Amino acid sequence: MSVWVVVVAAGSGDRFGAPKQFAQLGGRTMVQWAVEASRAVADGVVLVLPAGDGTDDGARPGLTGGADVVVAGGDSRAASVRAGLAAVPDSADVIVVHDGARPLASPALFRAVVEAVTGGADAAIPGIAVADTLKRVEDDAVTDTVARTGLVAVQTPQAFRADVLRRAHATKSDATDDAGLVESMGATVRVVPGDPRNIKVTTVADLEVAQALATS
Ligand code: C5P
Repeated sequence: MSVWVVVVAAGSGDRFGAPKQFAQLGGRTMVQWAVEASRAVADGVVLVLPAGDGTDDGARPGLTGGADVVVAGGDSRAASVRAGLAAVPDSADVIVVHDGARPLASPALFRAVVEAVTGGADAAIPGIAVADTLKRVEDDAVTDTVARTGLVAVQTPQAFRADVLRRAHATKSDATDDAGLVESMGATVRVVPGDPRNIKVTTVADLEVAQALATS
């Protein structure tokens, strides 16, 4: 069973104010954390970076985390995933997609999603029960309270049968969620318990939380 991981880290970091994929966390860049955790399951890692950041000027280990292949991303997350997929060998049986913006994903979480797919699911994603009350809002006014029973917040890494993920991305959709693409094909997507520490770093405040978690 050959497992490849695509780490997408080609976002512009607009909400962060700088290329956050190279921000430091406990002495390593965010990208290094993501690539190194993925080694728990990966036979190979494809890292997707903004064009010019380590893709044009050869390997810069601090920036690429020792990934096997580095490619340039696209204008949307989906385009970056497709660029990464194109670099995954045809021999891969399982492909895991992981956001470089989630540096604290644990090796155990990578193993859990891959085991769900090798156990028969088309795809597996980490989910966490929603703790907050959810409201639908229009123009600052509440229009509805959403029952949270059965709702989960979804994280990466997400694992897929390779053929299923390739077919889903052949549609060239711009979906922000790979599992959503696979669901709309009628494939089975299993949810495994997510990890509250596996936060997505979007703002500088998120990085401060991640730094505290990384050293705790
Ligand atoms: O923008 P968002 O926070 O949803 O990005 C999620 C992940 O997708 C991040 O790791 C980001 O670097 C990556 N991304 C990408 N290419 C883009 C946009 C986002 O690889 N064009």
